[in-house]
Amino acid sequence: MSSSSFRNGSGGVSRAGAMKIENYNPKYSPSSSSSSSFKSKVQQHSTASSGFRRSSSGSLGSSRDDSAVVSGRVRVAVRLRPRNAEEMVEDADFADCVELQPELKRLKLRKNNWDSDTFEFDDVLTEFASQKRVYEVVAKPVVESVLDGYNGTVMAYGQTGTGKTYTLGRLGQEDTADRGIMLRAMEDILVEASPENDLVSVSYLQLYMETIQDLLNPSNGNISIVEDPKNGDVSVPGATLVEIRDPKSFVELLQLGEAHRYAANTKLNTESSRSHAILMVHVKRSVKGRNSSLSSENGSITLTGKTLKPPIVRKSKLVIVDLAGSERIDKSGSEGHTLEEAKSINLSLSALGKCINALAENSAHVPVRDSKLTRLLRDSFGGTARTSLLITVGPSPRHRGETSSTIMFGQRAMKVENMLKIKEEFDYKSLSRKLDIQLDKLIAEHERRQKVFQDEIGRIASEAQKRVAEVEQNYADALELEKLKYEKDYMESVKKLEEQWAIKQEKHGQQKVKVGPSENGIDQRSNAESPMLSASGEVAEIKKKFQNETLSRKAAEAENDRLKSELTHWKKAEAAGNAELVKLRKMLEDQACQKAKLEDELSLLQRQLLQISSDADETSKNLDRGLNGRVPSSLDSLVPQIKNEQLRDTGDGERASMAKLFEQVGLHKILSLLEAEDADVRIHAVKVVANLAAEESNQERIVEAGGLTSLLTILKSSNDETVHRVAAGAIANLAMNELNQELIMSRGGISLLSLTATRAEDPQTLRMIAGAIANLCGNDKLQAELRAEGGIKALLGMVRCRHPDVLAQVARGIANFAKCESRASSQGTKNRKSILIEDGALPWIVLNANNEASPIRRHVELALCHLAQHEVNAKEMIGGGALWELVRISRDCSREDIRTLAHKTLKSSPSFVAELNRLRIDHG
Ligand code: ADP
Ligand code: MG
Repeated sequence: MSSSSFRNGSGGVSRAGAMKIENYNPKYSPSSSSSSSFKSKVQQHSTASSGFRRSSSGSLGSSRDDSAVVSGRVRVAVRLRPRNAEEMVEDADFADCVELQPELKRLKLRKNNWDSDTFEFDDVLTEFASQKRVYEVVAKPVVESVLDGYNGTVMAYGQTGTGKTYTLGRLGQEDTADRGIMLRAMEDILVEASPENDLVSVSYLQLYMETIQDLLNPSNGNISIVEDPKNGDVSVPGATLVEIRDPKSFVELLQLGEAHRYAANTKLNTESSRSHAILMVHVKRSVKGRNSSLSSENGSITLTGKTLKPPIVRKSKLVIVDLAGSERIDKSGSEGHTLEEAKSINLSLSALGKCINALAENSAHVPVRDSKLTRLLRDSFGGTARTSLLITVGPSPRHRGETSSTIMFGQRAMKVENMLKIKEEFDYKSLSRKLDIQLDKLIAEHERRQKVFQDEIGRIASEAQKRVAEVEQNYADALELEKLKYEKDYMESVKKLEEQWAIKQEKHGQQKVKVGPSENGIDQRSNAESPMLSASGEVAEIKKKFQNETLSRKAAEAENDRLKSELTHWKKAEAAGNAELVKLRKMLEDQACQKAKLEDELSLLQRQLLQISSDADETSKNLDRGLNGRVPSSLDSLVPQIKNEQLRDTGDGERASMAKLFEQVGLHKILSLLEAEDADVRIHAVKVVANLAAEESNQERIVEAGGLTSLLTILKSSNDETVHRVAAGAIANLAMNELNQELIMSRGGISLLSLTATRAEDPQTLRMIAGAIANLCGNDKLQAELRAEGGIKALLGMVRCRHPDVLAQVARGIANFAKCESRASSQGTKNRKSILIEDGALPWIVLNANNEASPIRRHVELALCHLAQHEVNAKEMIGGGALWELVRISRDCSREDIRTLAHKTLKSSPSFVAELNRLRIDHG
C-alpha cells in the first residue's frame, strides 16, 4: 500500500480536494461559542453556494435536468476515540498511533518512532471533543440543508469499537450531554418543522448479507429497493414509515429498532458490527407564500390571476448510516463464517469503497448497482445530497493497519463531488383539494346571492304593481269626482240660464204690451241687445270652466305618464338583475370547466402512474420468477415495447403502488377498456390485463370477471399483431391453470389460437401462442379436442419460424402431449398409435432430438422417451430413425433421469430389443 500518492511532496500533507481549505473552514476556537461559529459557517456555506456553478456535468447525476444544482463536495471529519481501559493497561508503554493537530485540521499517523504521514481533513475531532461539538461540525449543516429541501447523508465509517454507534446512536438517557447525532438531528428538525404544514417520518433498516430488514417491523423480511425511472431517486416502499411529532416518541422508536436489531442478530447468529444500520428521516414541507393565486377575504371569495399555480412541496430525506465495522472479516476469526458468507457480509462495504474510488478518480463507470448499500446511497455519493462522512479511529498502535485504511477511505471520499439539488415538486393533489373547496364555497355563495336577488326582484315587482294599481285607482277616483263636479256645475249653470231666460222672456213680454207694435226701431234695438249681452257672458263663463276642465285632465294625463315611466324604470332594473344572474352563471361554468381540466390532468397522471407501476412490477416479477412450467419470461418481451410506447427507463418493481392502483381502477373497468373504441386504449388495456395475468394471485379474479372471454374475443376480432401477441401471452399465463384450460377449450380457444398461429409472423406472437397450446397439451382431458380443433397441427406448423424460443415451446407442447398419451396408455384407456405420430410430428422430433439449444433438446428427448414407452409406436419410430436417437440419449444425455428413462424404455420394448439385436448393437 502506498500512502505517498495521497501526500503532497513538499510538506507531506495530503491534498484531497483543491477547494477544501477555502470553502469549508469553520474556525473553531475554544472561546467562541460553538453555535455562533456554526452560524458563520452556514453563512459562508451559503455564500459559497450562491456562486453556484450551474453545471450539468458531474459524476453520477450528470444527466440531471433543468433546475439549478449546487456543487457540494463530500465533507469528511475524523474522530479519535479515547483510550479504553484495556488500552490504558496494554498500550501503557506505547504512544498512540495517531496524533491530532486540530487547529491545522491535520492528523499524523505514526509509521515508527521517527517518521509519520500527515493527512488533512475537513475537521479533526480529538478524543476530548464533546458529542454536541461533533454534531455541530459533522451533522448540523446537513440537517439545515435537509430542512431547506435538499437530501442529506451522515455516515460513520471505521473499525468496530472506534465509536461509530457512540457518535450516531447514543440516546443519552443517563447523561443528556451524551446524545448522539440521530437524536440531535431529529430535535433540530422537529424545532424547525411546523406541525400543521410539515410532515416528519422515519424508517429504520438493517442491511445484512445483502438483505434489508425492517427494524420497526421485523416480520418485514426482505425489503426491496425501488428506483424512480424519471429522477433516479431510490426508495424502500416496503419499509415501515412512522410519523414523528416529538423527540420522546423518536427515542422510543430507536429503542424499539435497537431491540429488534438485537433479536435479528441473535437469530442470524451475527453481531451488529457486521450489519449496517440505516435511519431514513423523510421531511415533507410545503413552501409558503407561493400559492397565492386563490384568496379568500372577509368571507367573500375572489379568484385572482387566471393561471392556477399549484402549491409547492419539498420532500427531502436525511439518511444516517451506521456502517458495519470496516475491519477485514477474517481478522476477527471468531465468527466461523464460511467464505461465501464472509464475501457477502463484506460485499456492500467493499462495493462502497469501489464506488468511492471510481468517483474520486472521476472514472466513467461507477459500480453503483453492485450492492444494496451503494444502491441505497446512490444519491449520497456523486448524487444530489449534501453528505458528511465521519471516520472513526482508535488510538491503539496494534490496529495501525485498520486505522490507516480507514484514513485512506476518508481521504478518497473527500474527492467526491456532489451536485446538490433541491427536492421540490408541485403539489397537485392539494391544489385540487383546495380548488374543490373553493368551488363548493363559490357554488354556495352563488346560490345564496341568487336567492337574495330573486327575492328582491319579487319584492320590487310586487311593490311596483301595488303602486301602479294605487295610482290608477286614485286617478279614476279623481276623474270621477271631477266629472261629477263639472256635471253639477253645468246643470246649475243651465238651470240659472233657464231662470234668467224665463225672467227676460217675462220682461220682454211686458215691454211689448207697453210699446205696442208701432214702436221706433231704437227701442226695439236696445231691448233686443240686452238678452244677447247676458247670453255671451254665460258662454264666456262656460268656456272658462271648460278650459279648467281641460287643464286638470292634462295634469291627470301627466301623472299617468309619470307613473308609466316609473314602471319602465322598474322593468329595466329587473332586466339588469337578470344580466347579473347570467354573469354569475357564466362564472360558475368557468369554475366547473377549470375543475374538469384539473381532474383530467389528475387522471392522466394516475394513468401514467399505473403504466409505470405495471411496467416496473412486470420487470421485477420476470426477474424473480423461475421458468418452470410457465411460458419462459412470457412477458418480458412486452416490457421493452410498452416502455417504448409509454415511458422510458422503468426500473425495479413497485408492487405496492401497483396493487394500490389496481384496487383504485378496478378490474372491471380495465376489462371494459378491452372493448374501447380507441385502438390505442384497447392495446393498452390488453397489456395491462396481460401484466396482471402474469401474477398468479390475479388470475382467478381475472377469469371470474370474464377476462378470459374478453381476451379470446379480442384475439378473434382484432387484426393488430401487438394485440395478438399480448392477448396470447395473457391467455398463455391463464392457461397454466387446469380449470382455465377447460374453459379455454369450451370457449373455442383452441381453434382460435390455431387460427391465429397460422396467420402470425412475429416470432414473439408465435412464442406466446405456442406457449398457450403447450400448456393445453399437458391436460389429459383435452387430448381429443386439441387434435380435433387443429391444435396439434398448428403447434407443428409453428416450427416454420425457426426462432429457438418458439421451437422450445413447440417441443414443450409435444413433450406434454406425449406424456399424457403415455399416461393414458399405461392406464389402459388408450390403445392406438400416437396422435403425434399420426399427425406427422415424428420427423421433426427426430431432427431436433439433438438440437443444440438445451430447452428444445430436453423436451424433445422427453417426448421421445414417452412415445417409446408404448409398443404400438415402435415400428414407426424404428422406421423414422428415432431408435438411434433413443440409443444416443441413453448413452450421452447429460441429465441422468432422462438417460435412465431412455435406457429403461429401450430394454422394455420387445421391438426395440429385437431391432438392436438384429443390428448387433450391444445395449446392456
Ligand atoms: P462502533 O460502533 O464503532 O463499533 P462503539 O460506538 O460501540 O463502536 O464504541 C465502542 C466502545 O467505545 C463503547 O463502549 C463506547 O462507549 C466507547 N466509546 C466510543 N467512542 C467514545 C468516546 N468518544 N468517548 C468515550 N467512549 C467512547
Ligand atoms: Mg457499532
